[in-house]
Amino acid sequence: MRNIVTGNWKCNKLWDEADKLMVEVVEGMQSAGHTEVMVAPPSPYLAALRPRCNEFVALSSQQCSASGEGAHTGEYTASMLKSIGVKSVLIGHSERRESFGETNAAVAAKMKQTLDAGLMAILCCGENLDERDAGRHFEKVLAQLSHALSDVSSEEMDRVVVAYEPIWAIGTGRTASAEQEMHAAIRQHLTALFNQSIADSTRILYGGSCKPSNALEIFMQPDVNGGLIGGAALNATDFLAIVKASNEAISKAQ
Ligand code: PEP
Repeated sequence: MRNIVTGNWKCNKLWDEADKLMVEVVEGMQSAGHTEVMVAPPSPYLAALRPRCNEFVALSSQQCSASGEGAHTGEYTASMLKSIGVKSVLIGHSERRESFGETNAAVAAKMKQTLDAGLMAILCCGENLDERDAGRHFEKVLAQLSHALSDVSSEEMDRVVVAYEPIWAIGTGRTASAEQEMHAAIRQHLTALFNQSIADSTRILYGGSCKPSNALEIFMQPDVNGGLIGGAALNATDFLAIVKASNEAISKAQ
């Protein structure tokens, strides 16, 4: 199974900077390796960056609408993303859940829109510090997964990737030292929701202050299948070093 490393640029970079970063990432990605690489730039740049991609770097969207085409000012649909060559959509990122009121129901609707459009869904989940300190982190994350996957079929699961991102580790420099524990619990939960074979073949990414210096250690954990990268994805050298660490982790495990 190949790892996935996705760079989430969030709300950063003016157009010239975004274009330059994309060129640098693609120049550094001239072979396949053991890792599928995706980049999620701000949505206004997606169509213009599409021609910059090569076969080793694909585009991801940071989100999509929970509904289809229609009178929804400011929204854009998963099908629109598909029509401009986007490969995947980040769904339920904690910043969207916390700052834009994205509920579990909205996340489930976005999963449906994304999978119906034929795209890959990168489903984000994670607990905040209070939930972790209160020992409710497993309950929180597994409930998020149950809601988000409630309308997803077994057949669609080959286009679902889970990204576990403890909120207290995002952009803080802190990483979850026992991330393997949560990744294993997520895989076990996928077995309960679907079956063992689907659970085993679902990629579970880690996100939260992953950088070149800690990426290999994170990716060597048995149930970690790559990463969702925020801050370190804004610099091509760092991002490419993380991709290299992912390739190395797979090589060592073989
Ligand atoms: C993220 O927000 O998805 C993320 C992982 O950010 P960072 O790498 O900056 O912690």
